[in-house]
Amino acid sequence: MEKMKEERKIESVVILGAGPAGLTAALYAARAELTPLVITGMQLGGQASLTHQIENYPGFPEGIGGADLGDLFKQQAERFGARLAFDVVTEVDLSQLPFRIKTYGQEIFSKTVIVATGADPVHLSVPGEKELTGKGVSYCATCDGYFFKNKHVVVVGGGDSALEEAIFLTKFADKVSLIHRRDTFRAGAILQSRVRENHKIECIMDSVVKEIKGIDKVNAVIIQHVKTAALTELPADGVFIFIGHAPNNGIYQGQLALDEKGYIRVDEKMKTSVDGVFACGEAADANFKQVVVSAGMGAIAAISAGRYLESLE
Ligand code: NAP
Repeated sequence: MEKMKEERKIESVVILGAGPAGLTAALYAARAELTPLVITGMQLGGQASLTHQIENYPGFPEGIGGADLGDLFKQQAERFGARLAFDVVTEVDLSQLPFRIKTYGQEIFSKTVIVATGADPVHLSVPGEKELTGKGVSYCATCDGYFFKNKHVVVVGGGDSALEEAIFLTKFADKVSLIHRRDTFRAGAILQSRVRENHKIECIMDSVVKEIKGIDKVNAVIIQHVKTAALTELPADGVFIFIGHAPNNGIYQGQLALDEKGYIRVDEKMKTSVDGVFACGEAADANFKQVVVSAGMGAIAAISAGRYLESLE
């Protein structure tokens, strides 16, 4: 072990993911002078950075763009010495110390790891979805909304994301058909009333998308009414799917304890089943999925990692 230490650098804290959880963990670890290394993954700022406007993160009474908030998180963490590597984790070995993290570009060793790799959008799994992704099927209104200027788009889902993004898409599209499988929305009251007041949004309730049609681009969806089983073809230029998220935890399978939905199990200190490994944000949060909650979990994870390191000395 002593010889190994001479040969390779061993980090104190490596943070996997650069969303609100990862970047807040980086801020706290940096301020504790642990010079954390953040492996950003593909989406700097995380899912939040794909949100047009965030209105419920405290401190921004007028709201703030998701990408702008992510950038502020990054600047604040870097100001105190966090280092960001724009790289993607491909493999982790959490079975022995130091922990080993493999990325596209390097192999890193660390005494602690903070997992903050977030969640990915759930797919509808209907015919046409996969083939037409990027050709009219999208999971990100901020990224792709502009392509649907003066067009008719379908939004699938009944939660906060679907309603928020349906409203955002009315900036571009002439008409937004919001398709939800039940007769009541899951989304919060404010978003529901904004949707009701928006004359560009048509709500199609008790309905599910059975198929997305088109050859090189989307031209229609087949909808089924869940009570009558009647099928309807609805012409549309785009389909935006917001039916929830699933944690991005495949690489930790068999190494960290996960719950039945695949979220990393953590205690109130964000400790996982492996000493020295902590998790925060949507990788470990099946319930709240709020930027402020992820940031709070990130702070706890970093403080706990610092205390763990002290206990090793
Ligand atoms: P969500 O709350 O889990 O809602 C998913 C929606 O998709 C539900 O309406 C669900 O229907 C529907 N759905 C699920 N599977 C489906 C399927 N196979 N076919 C058709 N519909 C399906 O997900 P989310 O909207 O992405 O929100 C995730 C979390 O982030 C929530 O906690 C939410 O509050 C939070 N969030 C908050 C804000 C905000 O505060 N402004 C913004 C975005 C997200 P059922 O209702 O029938 O289950």
